[in-house]
Formats: sequence, C-alpha cells, structure tokens
Amino acid sequence: MPVPLLDLKIQYQALKPELDAALIRVAESQISILGPEVDALERELEAYLGVKHAIGVSSGTDALLMAMMAYDIGPGDEVIMPTFSFFATAGCVSRVGATPVFVDVDHVSFNIDPALILKAITPRTKAVIPVHLFGQAADIDAIIAIGKAHGVPVIEDAAQAIGTQTSDGRRVGSIGEIGCFSFYPTKNLGAMGDGGLVTTNDDALNIKLRQIRNHGMEPRYYHKIMGGNFRLDAMQGAVLRVKLPFLESWHAGRRRNAELYTQLFIESGISSGAGVTTFSEHDLILLPKAINAGTSPDNHIFNQFTIRSAHRDALRAHLQSKGIGAEIYYPVPFHRQECYAHLHLNDGDYPVSNCLAATVLSVPIYPELTTAQIREVVATIVEFERTHASTPSECADCAECGTHT
Ligand SMILES: *Cc1c(COP(=O)(O)O)cnc(C)c1O
Repeated sequence: MPVPLLDLKIQYQALKPELDAALIRVAESQISILGPEVDALERELEAYLGVKHAIGVSSGTDALLMAMMAYDIGPGDEVIMPTFSFFATAGCVSRVGATPVFVDVDHVSFNIDPALILKAITPRTKAVIPVHLFGQAADIDAIIAIGKAHGVPVIEDAAQAIGTQTSDGRRVGSIGEIGCFSFYPTKNLGAMGDGGLVTTNDDALNIKLRQIRNHGMEPRYYHKIMGGNFRLDAMQGAVLRVKLPFLESWHAGRRRNAELYTQLFIESGISSGAGVTTFSEHDLILLPKAINAGTSPDNHIFNQFTIRSAHRDALRAHLQSKGIGAEIYYPVPFHRQECYAHLHLNDGDYPVSNCLAATVLSVPIYPELTTAQIREVVATIVEFERTHASTPSECADCAECGTHT
C-alpha cells in the first residue's frame, strides 16, 4: 500500500464546498490583496494565538526578513540561531547584510541550546532567532531570559509551530518580541500558495511592521522607512479562514499518529522509548519525544515526525522502493552550507547537528493517515532495521557526538 509523505488532496476534498465558496467570494469581490479577508484572518489569528497584533504577510521567509528590517539589523550586526533549521532562518539575516551566528542544538528536542546562545552573545548581537523545529517549542523562557539580560530581542521562528503551546499553555510566536509564521501548503495551517504572518504584542512594532509590509509607506506615497511588497493575498486569507477552525483537530490527528507510531515501534522491540539519544541493540531507531507531553495538549503539533536511523540513506531508499514517502529535514546544517564557507566555521563546534543531519528521517504524519498505513510504515522500517542491525553505521559523525555505541 503506498503511503505518501503528505497528501493535501484529502484535506481539500473534505473542505471542498467551503474552500471553493471562499475562492469565488474573493473573485467576485475583486479585492485581491489585503482587504477584509486578510483583516478578518488577522483578528481570528490574534484570538487563536493569544497575541495583540497579527499581520498577514507574503511568506514565512518574508516574515523573518521583516523582523530584521523592523530592528534595523544590518552590516556589522550579529544574529544568533540554531545551525539545524530550514534555510530561511539564516537567509533573512544575510539578506540584510548582517552576520548569522550558528549554535548547536539539543539532542532530544532538536531545538537551540540556550547555554550555547549565552556563549555566542557579543556586543554586536542584535537578535536571537530560536526555531520551534518540527512543531515542538524551543526552551523559550530560558531564551527570553537571556535576551532580557542582554537587551537583545527574541524573534521566534514559529513557521512549523502554529498553535504549539508551552507547558503553561502559551502559544509560541506570542512570547518573544516578534513571532514569524508560514502558511506554506505543507505547514499545519497551509494556504493554496505562499503566505505568512508576523505577530507582536508591541504597539509601536505593529505600526512599523505594517508600514514595512507596504514599502514603508504612510500616508500613501510618502515613505519614512524602507519596506517592500510583503502583502498577503485575499485568496490566501479566505482559504486560511476556512481552515483555521479545523486546525486543532488536525493537531490532534497528528498527535494521535505520533502516539501510535511510538507504541508500535516499542512493541516491535526496535525502540525502548521516545527521546533516547543512543543507538543500541534495544534502540535500532530513535524516536522523537514530545517534551512537555501531559502538560498542554498542543505541546508538540508534529509538523514532522522525525525518527533517526544509523542506516538512514539505505532506509529511505528502501521505504521509497515500497512506495512510502520519507524526507530528510535537514541534510546540511547552516555551518556546512557552501554560501557560508566564507565564515570559516569550525565543524567540530556542531556535533549534535552534524549527527542529526546524518541520521534524521521524517516519515508520514499527516492527520488523515489510516491506522493500516501507519502499521505498514512501521512494519517496513522494523523489517529493514532488523536485517541491517549488524551492518556498520553510515553515520560519519558517530565518534564526534557519541550517539553510536
Ligand atoms: C517553512 C519555513 C520557513 C519559511 O516559510 P515560507 O513560507 O516557506 O517562506 C521559515 N522557517 C522555517 C523553520 C520553516 O520551516
């Protein structure tokens, strides 16, 4: 039975009458950019996220770029971030001429290690960008405390984590100075094209971000500050408004699937439990752990369910040969990217990220997956790992991080 990594057609079919009506409503209004649909979406998302201001923008990438522009970050400035994330987190810093400063991540959460942020702070540090990777909250209170102590704003990259809650129930992206979200179709709340959101609780930043969204223009054709065309389309606003009321049920579906995967892998005998960081005869694969499980329901919204294998590339090829989708997020950490060769970074400073890059594999987790499909994915992985258990690890970094015994 084929199991795609993601099947967006199922969600579209389930909501087809409402989505089609929303698209036609926008077509008939001929208000195509911003306007009442985007205004309404912003108010609905402010309520959902528990944040004072939500600003609909053109993409998650542009949301991050706007945050850099709002703080006038530029040449000579440094911005700290995890080295293990999607490229947009780093690209926004480079695009304004500032220098990204990469730090390693935590072995269990895959999120930025606050202790390493502290070590990386210099007088030139102008912001910290924690990423709530794969839908799990970074250690945001520790990061905010560091930011406050050093007068450095915290820009949350919540692109993969819309709705993710901290252990005391706050939604990520509503906690730092600015939150950045993506509505890329594969995110938990996806548009039918590009879209994003910037959030803040600060009234002055809200005004500045809204100006930046439209060429720094206020009033019309008067430009006080530099901005760009970062506006959200009305079609995307209308689509997202149809989908938002279902978001919690989709999170619940992903969480249910994650729990079933975990249970089945443990029952199979190739995992002793979630959050183990060392491969052994009892842990032929490593399972992701929802760190705040049992506190808030949305502690991990599982935008990805990312397992680890010491034979990752061969496992992925095997899954593909059986019609099962699996993807590597992410194979190359920022410090190893060719475009950052000029920074002359020391590869040995990033043992955990290097190990993750060599071992991670994300498997299908979308809410509409059936139990039979999940059983098939598990059975295929278990059979593969059992037959490869005695072959040497492919991970070139095992000596560095001690992940392999
Ligand atoms: C998707 C993503 C982005 C960029 O969002 P786009 O809407 O695709 O521009 C930024 N950061 C992370 C961590 C992402 O996953």
